[in-house]
Amino acid sequence: MEIDSLSSLERREILLTDIRNAIEVEWANPMKMNNDDAVLRSSLTLSDIDSAYARMRRFAPLMKKLFPETEERNGLIDSDLVEVSKLREALNSPRIGADISGRLMMKLDSHLAVAGSVKARGGIYEVMKHAEILAVENGILESFEDDYCKLADEEAREFFATRKLQVGSTGNLGLSIGIMGAALGFQTIVHMSSDARQWKKDLLRSKGVTVIEYEGNYSDAVKEGRAKSDADESSYFVDDEHSQELFLGYAVAAKMLVRQLAAEHIVVDGDHPLFVYLPCGVGGAPGGITFGLKQLFGENVHCFFVEPTQAPCMLLGMVTGLFDNISVQDIGLSGNTQADGLAVSRQSGFVGEFILPFLSGDFTIKDKRIFEYLQLLWQHEGIFIEPSACAAIHGPVCMGRSAVMDEYKYDNRLGKKMANATHIIWATGGNLVPEEVRQQLLARKA
Ligand SMILES: *Cc1c(COP(=O)(O)O)cnc(C)c1O
Repeated sequence: MEIDSLSSLERREILLTDIRNAIEVEWANPMKMNNDDAVLRSSLTLSDIDSAYARMRRFAPLMKKLFPETEERNGLIDSDLVEVSKLREALNSPRIGADISGRLMMKLDSHLAVAGSVKARGGIYEVMKHAEILAVENGILESFEDDYCKLADEEAREFFATRKLQVGSTGNLGLSIGIMGAALGFQTIVHMSSDARQWKKDLLRSKGVTVIEYEGNYSDAVKEGRAKSDADESSYFVDDEHSQELFLGYAVAAKMLVRQLAAEHIVVDGDHPLFVYLPCGVGGAPGGITFGLKQLFGENVHCFFVEPTQAPCMLLGMVTGLFDNISVQDIGLSGNTQADGLAVSRQSGFVGEFILPFLSGDFTIKDKRIFEYLQLLWQHEGIFIEPSACAAIHGPVCMGRSAVMDEYKYDNRLGKKMANATHIIWATGGNLVPEEVRQQLLARKA
């Protein structure tokens, strides 16, 4: 039967069966709205992103002081956008069989300062906001115009040392909150799920962060952490499943990208579409970045998430309409994946429903293919990124070779414009991976 003649209900049945069987799928979001309508019904706006960006700028002098590596970007945390034409060639070769037209770029959040992953955007931002509120309330800062370097003074540190920061994490969010929290002098406690890599725990402990390990999965670690923090008046919990602060911290990436694209002479307009592919766990990072990009580029940007076949919590929640009321275990999937940052069984309590009208689609990927991409990227570009980040490479591959995406291009009148397209693979982590672990990942049989 032709795909066209299947009713949407039948299509959904087939899709859900494939998801349940851990088969790789490509999904174009039928609930995506016209961008103006999506913006109108959204509870967050561009001005929320602007104020997050302003806060980051207020902290920039302090960031330079605490983390000299941020000096070259004036105390802001951002990454390079690089062209990966050799990867494009390798993906377009018969072995992989992609058909990528236009330019292929990579956004190297894998190399972000301080935390070496996309979590440096959201996590550090949320710690900034919390520290700022505490400091103003307690007279350490007079106002938002005060000298934020005061936050590195002995007096401020002694105050922060009476306060706790807690977070549940599969690893990278813990690194981001842990490193930033410890740098300001907070007592930081990271609740880690069983998926968390040993080196991430070791690194945190070396920074003086308390790491508590759990047998269970990510949601369990978050739940435990939240309960412990809520029971303690001096404690603040960074809640990856609900935090709008994390979300806005990620969204600022879009503002930074606008300038970078201009510097690269990359045009985004009605004739030059931009495609962005983002690895998705709980949804905060890819959702926040998508939200920011849709505010700035509107209809001309097309954002896709990529998730592991064993942990497609965002896709499952969207396709069923159950959002965070369904977990991947409910349909018999394990939730286990080597892409530890994406080992999430249940989506965020607000991101799925919030981002649905903006999202173009979602792809799932098997672990085996993740390692193939990891090695291909290293071999052809000399860039190392962690397994979670490699999931995004599947985006441009799917874009050019699936019937579902052909239909998406047709529906969005993109056919003739694909030659003018720019594709961005959002590389979300990897810089802090120790050499020994890198070698294991690179040698792993795909
Ligand atoms: C956390 C993470 C993601 C996904 O972010 P979510 O907010 O969980 O969706 C992607 N890649 C890496 C490397 C991560 O650490």
